[in-house]
Amino acid sequence: MADLPFQDRTDFEHADRGFIAKLTPGVVRTSDGEVVWDNDAYDFLAGDCPQTAHPSLWRQAQLCARQGLYEVTDGVYQVRGLDLSNMTLVEGDTGVIVIDPLVSAECAAAALRLYRDHRGDRPVTGVVYTHSHVDHFGGVRGVTDGNVPILAPAHFMEHAVAENVYAGNAMNRRALYMYGQRLPRSPEGQLGCGLGMGTSQGTVSLIPPTVDITRTGQEETVDGVRVVFQLTPGTEAPAEMNFLFPDRRALCLAENATHNLHNVLTLRGAVVRDARVWARYLTEAVELFADRADVAFASHHWPTWGRDDIVTFLSQQRDLYAYLHDQTLRLLNQGLTGAEIAEVMQVPPALEQVWHTHGYYGSVSHNVKAIYQRYLGWFDGNPAHLWEHPPIEQARRYVESFGGTSAVVGLADRYIEEGDLRFAATLLNHVVYADENDASARRLLARVYTRLGQGAENATWRNFYLTGAGELKNGPSPGSTSTTTPDMLSALSSEQIFDSLAIRVNGPHAWNERFAIDWHLTDLDERHRTTMSNGALVHQKSPTGNGADLTLRLTRQRLLALLAGDGDGPGHGLDHDGIDHDGDLTVLRRLTSVLEEPKPDFAIVTP
Ligand SMILES: [Zn+2]
Repeated sequence: MADLPFQDRTDFEHADRGFIAKLTPGVVRTSDGEVVWDNDAYDFLAGDCPQTAHPSLWRQAQLCARQGLYEVTDGVYQVRGLDLSNMTLVEGDTGVIVIDPLVSAECAAAALRLYRDHRGDRPVTGVVYTHSHVDHFGGVRGVTDGNVPILAPAHFMEHAVAENVYAGNAMNRRALYMYGQRLPRSPEGQLGCGLGMGTSQGTVSLIPPTVDITRTGQEETVDGVRVVFQLTPGTEAPAEMNFLFPDRRALCLAENATHNLHNVLTLRGAVVRDARVWARYLTEAVELFADRADVAFASHHWPTWGRDDIVTFLSQQRDLYAYLHDQTLRLLNQGLTGAEIAEVMQVPPALEQVWHTHGYYGSVSHNVKAIYQRYLGWFDGNPAHLWEHPPIEQARRYVESFGGTSAVVGLADRYIEEGDLRFAATLLNHVVYADENDASARRLLARVYTRLGQGAENATWRNFYLTGAGELKNGPSPGSTSTTTPDMLSALSSEQIFDSLAIRVNGPHAWNERFAIDWHLTDLDERHRTTMSNGALVHQKSPTGNGADLTLRLTRQRLLALLAGDGDGPGHGLDHDGIDHDGDLTVLRRLTSVLEEPKPDFAIVTP
């Protein structure tokens, strides 16, 4: 750490370059006055790094907390620091094109107002979504009500909702940890998430794209502005793209190259990404665009100016992902497991000396394990790990074998004294899992997590540890805001709706059920069949033949009400609604009676 290049202030110069004005105060509210974003809460970052933070993360947080409207190049502006992501504005012949309208409509509207205050009341004449993550489209209704071209990479809609549908509840719960949503903003608490300061808590919206970008080299003109695209599917998101504004000599890198090591597998949980493909697309971006760009900007962090610096930046980012990928594969072929590779993997010193390769959001440790997981999965091949007891059973046996609770706590104390907080956490976690009411073990574990968090360079690790410490003291935090807004629900495909229904079936409760329901979605004129057998609710589109016990004719909206539960538990939405039907209506009740709601505040640091 001592040899990190703190004297290199280039990032601060770049983060401030082109500054025009701040939003004052740096707070965004709903029309009811509820705060959805408060960047002023981070004013404490102006101070020197305290003992309670890693100096490298403190520096990154200082950079990310900068807020305001910035000129990137002639006709290209960014609003940064008004949400997790950046909103970029490109001026056209008659108005302005918005790239990535933030997480929520309130923040996007505030960002657009800030821009207009300084650049005139230009109408929004187009929107571009760089990729399918919510911080790049959720605020769209804050900048337009549609009726303008909206450009997005192929398969955008599918992926914009897909990642959140099936495992959404668990991801939301874990995202609360990852972003430190309930932590105080303070030198002891949340310092952002490395990629930005956090996610706003306003209204999430989604307007479907009108123009699909389906191939690299595709060229479009929006409001007189030429754009040349490079598709990069399977990188940071399943649907993503880079693009060049050739007449502005400005390159948008979406989220494929930002000022940190990104996530091959985000800690909130997701399908693992492909570091190999990621590196290849960065090579292609250099080939396609480097000679035609004077500035490269992304949807997080600050831009890079000058052809040579752009090439250096992209090449180093590329080398980073390629190195982690290739070396993980080399070592797993030597027989090392994920945890072992994570322990020995070292980023080459030349890359380590560059700030933007540091693991503020992704980390070398968890990315290496993700690459291992992508190729070999959870099992490391050792039969000792094939059939281990689950955490509570294991914890009880560990504590018993080590001579009881106080003996284990005593051992943990010794490891804490020796500075081995990692093993102290393992021991104390066993104690808490063996007896969650052991208050002194909980307090001690909370202290260990706090020290681990405050020592972490990675912001999401810090947030996980500190949130875990908080929940050990106070119990699970209330759930975070849900992304199941009307716009998101209406983006679900019929198949996704029936799949979502199927994953709410409590299998054992349905073991003895046998029935088939035909669903005629009258507004779409679609026919679907769901068949319950052996606890599985199997979906089939356009079924042939008869044989359903019940046929329901309803709109898609009514079907969604069943899924959402109308606020009264699943099924209630349909139970008392006059839905047109043929056949045995009690079958519907048998279905709804085996549906279960996900648990938004399940325990994580306690059993
Ligand atoms: Zn993002």
